[in-house]
Amino acid sequence: MARHAVVIGAGVIGCAVANELIKTGLAVTVVDALPAAGYGSTSASSAIVRFSYSTRAGVAMSYEGLHWWRNWADVLAPARPDQLAEFIQYPMIMWKLPNAQYERVLPHFDALGIAYDDLTAAELTDRYPYLATDSFGPPVPLDDARFFADPSGTLEGGFVMPESGYISDPMLAAQNLHEAAVANGASFLFNTRVVGISRSGHRVTGVELADGGAIDADIVVNVAGPHASKINELAGVVDDMNVQTRALHREVYIVPQGDLDLEANGVMIGDEDVGVYFRPERGGNLLVGSAEPECDELLWIDDPDAYEPSLDEDEFQRQVLRAARRLDGLPVPRAKRGVAAMYDASDDWLPIYDRSSLDGFYLACGSSGNQFKNAPIAGYCMAALIDAVESGRDHDGDPLQVTAPFTGFGIDMGTFSRLRNPAATSMNVFG
Ligand SMILES: Cc1cc2nc3c(=O)[nH]c(=O)nc-3n(C[C@H](O)[C@H](O)[C@H](O)COP(=O)(O)OP(=O)(O)OC[C@H]3O[C@@H](n4cnc5c(N)ncnc54)[C@H](O)[C@@H]3O)c2cc1C
Repeated sequence: MARHAVVIGAGVIGCAVANELIKTGLAVTVVDALPAAGYGSTSASSAIVRFSYSTRAGVAMSYEGLHWWRNWADVLAPARPDQLAEFIQYPMIMWKLPNAQYERVLPHFDALGIAYDDLTAAELTDRYPYLATDSFGPPVPLDDARFFADPSGTLEGGFVMPESGYISDPMLAAQNLHEAAVANGASFLFNTRVVGISRSGHRVTGVELADGGAIDADIVVNVAGPHASKINELAGVVDDMNVQTRALHREVYIVPQGDLDLEANGVMIGDEDVGVYFRPERGGNLLVGSAEPECDELLWIDDPDAYEPSLDEDEFQRQVLRAARRLDGLPVPRAKRGVAAMYDASDDWLPIYDRSSLDGFYLACGSSGNQFKNAPIAGYCMAALIDAVESGRDHDGDPLQVTAPFTGFGIDMGTFSRLRNPAATSMNVFG
């Protein structure tokens, strides 16, 4: 009989892990407390697909991920869902700012051959006339007099990544993967909460359920999103982890574009100068989220089970007014519209894709607001890692290198180890 894996969580990453694990010959059961796939933090995702990460493995994984989205129908075969999540291409800009993200990103782009244009502010204005190239930063709180101050000058320029974009419907993407996993033989139990991890000595033996039931398993994978740290506590693996994860409240707003020409000639920006990211959203809208500038307080959630999502008026004003500095003419509506949700943020904003100190218990967590795009390839890497470790590989001592199927890039899974030194990698939501 095939060995049995239980995946905790049917978000986009959990479904991807399940769909790839089953291809390695395991029997797979996915357990989720919610009623359907992608109902957790996945449903709130801005779903931006970009490649600007601070680590080589992060860049390689995200560029590989692009190819999975571009070939989505093939990725899902033999399933043929009626509706498919779509990749919608828009260029993404990183500003040239002192000590900004691009300094760590571009060497990886150059090494891997990822395309970008190096443009002056004037060249950016030619391409995107609605985009102010003024220098406003560093970001300050809304009640700081400098919030509305005149710009201090003009930005030097920016780097445009032409191949980036976003996924039209993140929950549908998870549901597509759910359908694919079922077509490949995986089982899903919804409305089913895991409340315990069972073990025998140093090895996991299954999960305990809130309804009093239990499922035996040779392998358990924690993909519980913002609840992942609670599951890790249940498994007793936290003390062995150099990197911890915590739930963080986040908000994303949808505002009308007004007369801006974003539908046809739009861009996406991770704007470290004003402190927001934004992208066009279908229906003549703009999606605005926080780039988590240092001046903004982060709202950590101690108990994700007690979390009540709601939009905050001050936060809405702050983020939309910041976006309006960059997009001259952006209407700032009176009524706020958007979503509130939790990220599962790690200490250094990099995910943990790893084994744990409990044999057979694996971690795909800490996705830190930036791993939607990587979900399909993360599922592939997790399946490869689990296969290797279960076959005797000392992944902690000799980290697995995964060869990405579309690009052929090498992905160093040691980058995502729970044992890494977070001080060496720490950045922000951009990873
Ligand atoms: C506001 C926001 C914006 C984002 N924007 C982007 C972006 O632009 N680009 C990008 O790449 N990424 C982005 N992300 C991040 C991305 O969406 C997440 O990394 C990804 O969706 C996480 O998927 P997941 O499957 O790990 O977790 P989730 O979707 O949270 O799924 C976890 C599942 O585990 C289940 N669960 C939890 N505890 C239990 C339990 N005890 N028993 C059973 N089931 C349990 C939950 O019910 C849930 O369904 C964003 C995230 C948010 C919140």
